[in-house]
Amino acid sequence: MFYFKTTGIILNKKNVKEKSAVIYILTKNLGLIKAIAEGINRSESKLLSVVQPGNYGKIYLIGEGSIYKLLSFLALKIPNKVYKKYPYTYLWALKFLIFFNFFELSDRFFFFVLNMDKILIKSPAYFPFIFLNEIFKELGIEPNIENCYSCNIKLIRSKEIYLYGSKLFCEKCKKIGYEKISKEDYLNLLNFLVKNQKPKKINKNILKKIFKSHLKSINL
Ligand SMILES: [Zn+2]
Repeated sequence: MFYFKTTGIILNKKNVKEKSAVIYILTKNLGLIKAIAEGINRSESKLLSVVQPGNYGKIYLIGEGSIYKLLSFLALKIPNKVYKKYPYTYLWALKFLIFFNFFELSDRFFFFVLNMDKILIKSPAYFPFIFLNEIFKELGIEPNIENCYSCNIKLIRSKEIYLYGSKLFCEKCKKIGYEKISKEDYLNLLNFLVKNQKPKKINKNILKKIFKSHLKSINL
C-alpha cells in the first residue's frame, strides 16, 4: 500500500452500496483517477460536504496500482457562481472529462479545467466549443483549420474555402456538394480555434457542423 498526496478537481461522485461512493478525480500528475470514499454518505461524514463535483483541493489517497481509497480532501477552491447560473452545463463538462483516459496533463489543460467555471460565466454561448477545443488540443486530435485537407496548402492563401464534414478544402480541391464558407467566417474561426482569441462574430452553424462531425470521426 502507498500513500499519495496530490491536488485535483472532483469530476463526479457515484454512490455505491453501504453509503460509499466512487469519486472521479482529475489530477495533474496521475491524470484521471477513481477512488472509493468509504462511508462518505453517512450523515456524520466530514467529507460529504466538500467532496462535490467542481471542487478543487488537496487529496490524500491510499492505494496500489490503479485502485485508490480516498482518505481525506481539503478544498482549496469551490466554484460557487457557476452553480447558480449554469449548473447543468458545468456538471456536463465535468462528467464529459471522464470519457477520456487522461494520464499526465499539460499545465495548460489543467489550468483550463481549474478555470472552467470562470470561462463558462464569461462566454456561456461559446463555452461548449472552447471546452471541446481544449480537449482536442490536449489529446492532439484537434480539427485541422489551417490547411486544405487534400493538398495541405494554408487556407488563408485560398480565395475561397469549402467545408465538408469537419474538413476544410481550398478552391482547387473543392467538389460538388461542399459548402462554401466566407473568408470572414473562416478568419474568425481560425482566430477563435487556433489562436484562442476571444469569440467575435463567429458563425456558430459552421462551428457546430465541424465539431459534430469531428466528434463522430474520433469515435466518441
Ligand atoms: Zn487544396
